[in-house]
Amino acid sequence: MSKKEFTDEELEQLLLSDLQELDIKCADCDKSLLKMVRSRKTEEIQELIVNCPFCGGQSWMQELVGKYYQTTPEGLILGGMDEVRPKSYKLNVEIAND
Ligand SMILES: [Zn+2]
Repeated sequence: MSKKEFTDEELEQLLLSDLQELDIKCADCDKSLLKMVRSRKTEEIQELIVNCPFCGGQSWMQELVGKYYQTTPEGLILGGMDEVRPKSYKLNVEIAND
């Protein structure tokens, strides 16, 4: 399964909050790598870079303010995540094998 299932509580937060969607694309080949959905406005700040499974490149550094859920575009699945610095993450996505 590549899609995240939301719990009822998470869904409620999504509906009540200032929803914001963010597409993270590869800086090199421009393919969509990850979709972030903000569920809550908080003071929390994270940085995220996504490694591209198509060309070996990566996305631009993305600053995320608030609480986010991540989903993958069709055909991709989440891989591992490394914390390179506190609140700074590097995420792998992989091509799903159907
Ligand atoms: Zn790429």
